[in-house]
Amino acid sequence: DAGRRRQERIESRLPVLKTVEVLLPVALDRPLTYAVPEGLDIVPGDLVVVPLGTRPTVGVVWDGEGAAVDAAKLKPLSGKVDAAGFSKPMRSFIDWVAVYTLAPRGQVLRMALRGLAEDPGPPQPRIGLRATGVAPKRLTPAREKALAAASDGVVRSKKALSEAAGVSTSVLDGLVAEGALQPAPLPPPPPPRQPDPDLPGPELSVEQAASARALREAVAARAFSVTLLDGVTGSGKTEVYCEAVAEALSAGRQALILAPEIALTIPFLDRFAKRFGARPAVWHASVGEKGRAAVRAGVADGSVRAVVAARSGLFLPFKDLALIVVDEEHDAAYKQEDGVAYNARDMAVVRARIEDAAVVLASATPSIETRVNVERGRYDKLALPARFGGRAMPAVQAIDMRRVGPPRGSWLAPAMVHAVTETLAAGQQALLFLNRRGYAPLTLCRRCGHRMKCPNCSAWLVEHRFRASLVCHHCGHSAPTPKTCPACAAEDALVGCGPGVERIRDEAAERFLGARISILSSDVMGAGERLKAELEAIERGEIDIVVGTQMVTKGHHFPNLTFVGAIDADFALGAADPRAAERTFQMLQQVTGRAGRGEKPGRALIQTHDPDHAVIRALVAGDREGFYRAETASREAAMMPPFGRLAGIVISAPTKEAAEAHGRALARIAPKVEGVRVLGPAEAPLAMVRGRARVRLLAQSVRDFDMPGFLRDWLGAAPPARGGVRIAVDVDPQSF
Ligand code: ADP
Ligand code: ZN
Repeated sequence: DAGRRRQERIESRLPVLKTVEVLLPVALDRPLTYAVPEGLDIVPGDLVVVPLGTRPTVGVVWDGEGAAVDAAKLKPLSGKVDAAGFSKPMRSFIDWVAVYTLAPRGQVLRMALRGLAEDPGPPQPRIGLRATGVAPKRLTPAREKALAAASDGVVRSKKALSEAAGVSTSVLDGLVAEGALQPAPLPPPPPPRQPDPDLPGPELSVEQAASARALREAVAARAFSVTLLDGVTGSGKTEVYCEAVAEALSAGRQALILAPEIALTIPFLDRFAKRFGARPAVWHASVGEKGRAAVRAGVADGSVRAVVAARSGLFLPFKDLALIVVDEEHDAAYKQEDGVAYNARDMAVVRARIEDAAVVLASATPSIETRVNVERGRYDKLALPARFGGRAMPAVQAIDMRRVGPPRGSWLAPAMVHAVTETLAAGQQALLFLNRRGYAPLTLCRRCGHRMKCPNCSAWLVEHRFRASLVCHHCGHSAPTPKTCPACAAEDALVGCGPGVERIRDEAAERFLGARISILSSDVMGAGERLKAELEAIERGEIDIVVGTQMVTKGHHFPNLTFVGAIDADFALGAADPRAAERTFQMLQQVTGRAGRGEKPGRALIQTHDPDHAVIRALVAGDREGFYRAETASREAAMMPPFGRLAGIVISAPTKEAAEAHGRALARIAPKVEGVRVLGPAEAPLAMVRGRARVRLLAQSVRDFDMPGFLRDWLGAAPPARGGVRIAVDVDPQSF
């Protein structure tokens, strides 16, 4: 008792501590409560360092009162991070995404903290060299050259001075040792040039100008709006949405331009620089840590005005976001499947609503979701129905592979070969498109029939000759291509079945002797300098035939490209995925749209085994609207998105039995609610990935239904996942 009283006396002498809720970038939904040390002024949104387990961790002060706990018993936070905090809209956005995707809030926060250097430390002054006037003991010709180059008194880096003088750096080291040169701080680099919205843009056509005006008004309104910019390939969508960017920049505000693929940002950067006199900031996975830290800091303090980004750029903490452009809004790459399963196009709309910003969704082949939102009056629409400069759309024809296909062991039909030959003879460029990386999608033994499968996944291994290996496109497993069959040990019996782009390249090299061929595929080209150089070589006409995957379908502008051949166009059409038709249509429309964007008219051929398929017929007839009407009607009839809602629940486990048992247990306890049904468990589209068996439950509901709420109620009552069972929720799955 005496002890307790003493304890109370001690506590009453301690200052009254405030508590705060801190959200941490870990897989926790709830913020944790910390005590605020005296003298520290903390408000919601501040970035703080807190002890978490044994590690100091950066978190964000979240809204809400600290829990009613004894502050003295809480760990105090360690300090404040000297970086711009999270605005209220940014915090609401993170809350919203977490609720919608069912991801723990901390996991969403982790995406928004990317690029934040844990402890950047004080900036290191950069050191260079300058001449002192002290004569070295010995003057060699090299030393003379070095001192002459340094005689202007300018401080240069060691590397710059050695290059300017044409001497090795060891010569400079010698001069430093003898006092003739001396280290000195380099002048700070000039701040990067900012885009200038007042530079004149191109002269716009009447239709373009009308659309540009409408978009400028939407940005100037400082209110939430979504506009579909629906323009055929080559209509000048980029030029038009750049006017919206100009409007944001003129107001001193910020613009975010999302692109589905890094490769697409490369040509865009130059176009942007031409329009605004400086490049935008760039944000994606291939940007180094330093670069990302700089972009993040600039975005947060408002000094960076324009950012071109992959989908993750949506989670940057903009200070004053006026506009989000989602280029190629229909693209499936906007959907993140791992971790937080979100669609950046949809979340861009959410973010803009929270920030009172304008959204521009640009596409030549808008998603059915977006078109339906326009029809319902929720989004505005601007149309650019014709190519810029009166250029014609390419003429599209189908090649019926059942009747006039290629000879055995070859992938290009005679008509395709003929068209490429003609194109090359006219001094123009041809593009052969196949959406399959590698050399062959399946390798089997001619003698025993053994098929090379991934040891971890239910997938075939894809031969990549370029890397001389067999690769799994799902888990990344890779092994050198064996010389003998692993099953029967036969030598030289393994053969590749079916084509990939590398194989098409080989066939093209054989058939079109002397043609300069380039292969554009993410695994061959990467996304950096190599790709950029290749794209420029194509643009300059140094390449005759481009063989490429879907990497080439979008965005690029090759003025001398007049022919596009799509090989095996319908391999995706047979898939059970209800989105397959829409996706194939979009892909083929985009790739054929690469033809004839310059002065010369273009044409396209599509190799197909199903020329009567609605997708192929619409492409040949140029009947985009007809295709959309039919596809929209069939979605509506099947209550598929956007007419109904879907969510997938993937249950994975070390064994198929464990996954199935848990799936059945979950299905049994699904709440019985009007307007929703639960299907499955069934094998997931990929039944085995990375050594884990996968089954899937599918919840399908009417449109006006709170699917996340339903899932939360359901999964909240679920039995605990034991024995390595894992559950992943995917609201609005891309493929189903
Ligand atoms: P989209 O994005 O709709 O496919 P782009 O914006 O890439 O079309 O435009 C296609 C080509 O036409 C580009 O080379 C672009 O520079 C050019 N272009 C479009 N509009 C104009 C214009 N008003 N003045 C000059 N060139 C234009
Ligand atoms: Zn695998």
